[in-house]
Amino acid sequence: MKQNNWFDPFYIQENLTEEETQIQKNVRDFCNKELRPNVVSNNLNNSFDKELYKLFGSIGLLGQTVNSHGGAGTNFVSYGLTAYEIEKIDSSYRSSISVQSSLVINPINSFGNSQQKDFFLPDLISGKKIGSFGLTESEAGSDPSSMQTTYKKLSNGYVLNGTKNWITNAPIADVFIIWAINENKNIKTVKGFILEKKFKGLETSYINNKSSLKISPTGQIILNQVNVPEENVLPNTDGWKSIFSCLNKARYGISWGVLGAASECWLIAKEYSENRIMFKKPLAANQLIQKKLANMQSEINIALSACLLTGRAIDENKDVINAISILKRNNCKKSIEIARNSRDMLGANGLLEEYHVIRHVMNLETVKTYEGTEDIHALILGKNQTNISSF
Ligand SMILES: Cc1cc2nc3c(=O)[nH]c(=O)nc-3n(C[C@H](O)[C@H](O)[C@H](O)COP(=O)(O)OP(=O)(O)OC[C@H]3O[C@@H](n4cnc5c(N)ncnc54)[C@H](O)[C@@H]3O)c2cc1C
Repeated sequence: MKQNNWFDPFYIQENLTEEETQIQKNVRDFCNKELRPNVVSNNLNNSFDKELYKLFGSIGLLGQTVNSHGGAGTNFVSYGLTAYEIEKIDSSYRSSISVQSSLVINPINSFGNSQQKDFFLPDLISGKKIGSFGLTESEAGSDPSSMQTTYKKLSNGYVLNGTKNWITNAPIADVFIIWAINENKNIKTVKGFILEKKFKGLETSYINNKSSLKISPTGQIILNQVNVPEENVLPNTDGWKSIFSCLNKARYGISWGVLGAASECWLIAKEYSENRIMFKKPLAANQLIQKKLANMQSEINIALSACLLTGRAIDENKDVINAISILKRNNCKKSIEIARNSRDMLGANGLLEEYHVIRHVMNLETVKTYEGTEDIHALILGKNQTNISSF
């Protein structure tokens, strides 16, 4: 009988297809070669090289589940494994890929017409163009239905006004998916628009001084009387349902991704505690330390197993709406606990950038907040169980 492996107690690797294993290995090798060497200095300098998008595109990491317009056409398990490997390096890089894939390429592919797909998808999938997704506003975070960004119908298109805040890629994006409500508040429709950087009246700004997700550029999108031609409206959206379907794709990737960050922290803490001598013996010789390692191992592997089951269900075209909220909520919560405990186990060294753990702790604060906080996902789950909305 094969010996049970402490790193993979539920035989996840054996449950992957050859193609999934190969994709995971390719992404891991890419990350170690291209991303890992500069991650500490990039984080210290808030530095993101836009050219990275072309690199991501060149190995099929953008819109990877799309099987046209240059997309790799992989399944969702492979997309999850990709997020897991990339977030081992940094949540910023996983965010870059998630936003471009789930929140920009996906809505154009799902709700766009063939002209929009032919025009936008090849450049977004190759990384020649960078995308952003504008939903959140200063007064509309957890409750996007309070948004103030409006559209008004003109004879030949629309005019948009408003300000989106906390938008990943806003300062570097070429393409902007913008969600807006009808200027006439009696008409309760929300529409999606594809805007381009060159549109008159569209400006962006950086949010500076972020202590979290420092590599990822975040900012505002200011829309001042922006004229949007009819051909830039996403024609096949179904109101809020469409927005949530995009968010759920991103949340699925996040659920795998945070386990990559947690796994890095776990292994760093394990190695550190095996080598650090305190009270004349390795830290790892203490029961309290071993219990922490066992908790990390358990939470990561239970969560990974649930991610794999959910990915398989998505690949079988099943509705996973509750699974996604459970995973986003649980995995972010557990990953940040693991990162914080790892930081603690490294003592003062855990505060140094070169040990990587403190960066993951800080990053996971963002990942816990965006795409629905822990409590918002509890409310979604509560509503689905009881049929009573507490929002
Ligand atoms: C780095 C970063 C990148 C981001 N990128 C994007 C992006 O690309 N596109 C985009 O559209 N948005 C983006 N966001 C925004 C993100 O989605 C919002 O920050 C998130 O939805 C939370 O909204 P908020 O910050 O306004 O917090 P709030 O909604 O004000 O929530 C504050 C707190 O109140 C709690 N709360 C809220 N309502 C309730 C309630 N009814 N019951 C109990 N508790 C409640 C929340 O759980 C939270 O703890 C990003 C955010 C960050 C930090």
